Amino acid sequence: PLVNPLRSLILAAAGNDALRRLVATTPVSRDVVRRFVAGETTADAVAVARDLVDSGLTVTLDHLGEDTTDKALAESSVRAYLDVLDRLREEGLASRVEVSVKLSAVGQVLDERLGLDNAARICAAAEQAGTTVTLDMEDHTTTDSTLRVLAELRRTWPSTGGVLQSYLHRTRADAQALAGAGSRVRLCKGAYAEPESVAFPTMHEVDRSYVQCANDLLAGEGYPMFATHDPRLIEIVSEQARLHERAPGSYEFQMLHGVRPDEQLRLSAAGETVRVYLPYGQEWYGYLMRRLAERPANTALFLRALTSR
Ligand code: FAD
Repeated sequence: PLVNPLRSLILAAAGNDALRRLVATTPVSRDVVRRFVAGETTADAVAVARDLVDSGLTVTLDHLGEDTTDKALAESSVRAYLDVLDRLREEGLASRVEVSVKLSAVGQVLDERLGLDNAARICAAAEQAGTTVTLDMEDHTTTDSTLRVLAELRRTWPSTGGVLQSYLHRTRADAQALAGAGSRVRLCKGAYAEPESVAFPTMHEVDRSYVQCANDLLAGEGYPMFATHDPRLIEIVSEQARLHERAPGSYEFQMLHGVRPDEQLRLSAAGETVRVYLPYGQEWYGYLMRRLAERPANTALFLRALTSR
């Protein structure tokens, strides 16, 4: 099952302010945070992105923040993206580094139109910088809205990417609809706690759906982006890509910063395009808690760092 007690406990801690302060002020735990998050500033993000690019990887930068119900906060999130896109252009990194945007961070929660307008400003800046935008996918109550916004953005910026989550029943149909020429689609399993009415309850079904959707995307004419750390899925997708006579570079693999870094380099050395999802910004706490909830081994690492001197 997707939900386990440890996961629920950690996700509950995600809302705990005292824990947040402890994590922020303990030096060793800051190192653990740094494993998953580039840092708090634009300069941190650009510096880590440059290191990754120098090692042969590509990057998608995520300015942390979500579920913004405040117009001023949404505006500051947009400005953070405009700022980092400027820097990417100045530093000559735009051909290897794109940005990922959560619509809920730029106003979607307040009003879909505001989310669209703000995302459009980011897409325009990305185009000027010479790079692209991918809209992250959030919980299932936002899927229709996010796909609508994606379709609207693609009318002006056809290379704007979308994300599909294989844990949702609806996703097979979405994958077929989005497999056309020019589309960029990230396929992931899905990271939110979803009810059985909309999502597959077992990992087995989620994985099977992933394989089916991957096949649909590879059979189509778009550019699929396979976001997973799962060794079995990476192997199956690689084999599917060969069967569909997809050359490396006509699709890519994506992994999170700090997760399976050796595998990222191995795939890249084998000629695959590998993109690292690199979050930065002050709102790192909730993101970190989700990564810990996904994997008990990460939590053990984290707790050891917190308690050792
Ligand atoms: P899991 O089922 O978590 O793990 C499968 C196997 O992978 C494990 O058994 C293990 O063998 C291996 N593995 C996993 N983690 C590790 C590790 N730390 N060390 C060693 N081996 C490991 N979710 C969304 O809902 N919306 C998004 O927009 C979104 N964007 C994403 C972008 C990227 C680039 C990535 C990588 C993920 C994104 N996700 C997103 C999260 C995603 O949905 C999953 O929650 C997350 O990737 C975990 O699933 P998994 O496919 O890696 O496999």
